Amino acid sequence: MILENPFAIEGRWFKGNLHTHTTNSDGDRSPVQIVEHYRNQGYDFLFITDHNRVTEVRGLSSADFLVLPGAELSAKGDEARNGYHLVALNIGDTEGLSPDLEAQEVIDRVREKGGEVVVAHPYWSALTIHDLLRLEGYIGLEIYNTSCFYSIAKGHSLVYWDALLARGCRVWGIAADDVHWHFNDHRPNDACGGWIMVKAPALTVDNILAALRQGHFYASNGPTIEAIRMGEQSITAQASKSRSINFIADGSRGESFTSLDGRPLSWAEFTPAGKEKYLRVECIRADGTAAWSNPLWLGER
Ligand SMILES: [Zn+2]
Ligand SMILES: [Zn+2]
Repeated sequence: MILENPFAIEGRWFKGNLHTHTTNSDGDRSPVQIVEHYRNQGYDFLFITDHNRVTEVRGLSSADFLVLPGAELSAKGDEARNGYHLVALNIGDTEGLSPDLEAQEVIDRVREKGGEVVVAHPYWSALTIHDLLRLEGYIGLEIYNTSCFYSIAKGHSLVYWDALLARGCRVWGIAADDVHWHFNDHRPNDACGGWIMVKAPALTVDNILAALRQGHFYASNGPTIEAIRMGEQSITAQASKSRSINFIADGSRGESFTSLDGRPLSWAEFTPAGKEKYLRVECIRADGTAAWSNPLWLGER
């Protein structure tokens, strides 16, 4: 798995959500209603991932909006015995995927079915880094989950991601809603709060899946990353209206650039010292929303 900088490849950007519940599990909107909502909000694709079952998506796609099948699968084997939640993307059924299975078995079986796995909300699940290090074959983890953020303020799982990347695990960072349409007078709606922007040649199932496997996307709960350029000596990131632009690497490496006079930053440039294993870009706005690039492997430029 070699990551090309998605900002440097041909294609268009497509906005999507990888984690969606409907009335077929514990969501409050039917498949038709939730698809209509995301389409109206400017999204291009949506994975429907009800708990431990695959919701039928035939007939839900249209020329400009792709609906893909999946499921959120419960699995066993974590240290605290809370259980894993694994988002299985692009599976047609849950045959042979009982919640009694160990997480690695679930990942293997999903891949045998042609699907891919994202580890859902590690912080919410109270997973440990060991729980993630013992797994292989999953494409990424949810570094931001809107529903977990609005319900119990455990939406961000960035520390897990850096711990995995620093140990050489090539996993991508995903922002997803985990939408249930549950909200009240002190909790915002969990729809359309976290997404990924995928760079692909066209909006097809194969193209979206290939881009997800190759890391050709970035995650956001607000900002747009306009460009990431890899120069001979330095890396430049462009994202207007940023309060901070961070270049995050393993250990104590990397650098943060923050506006001192209140005027937003639109770009920042970082010169690696040469020992960084990976580098990822994080653009944060004054309102606290952020966009997160996938890691770049500096030895492979
Ligand atoms: Zn879950
Ligand atoms: Zn969920």
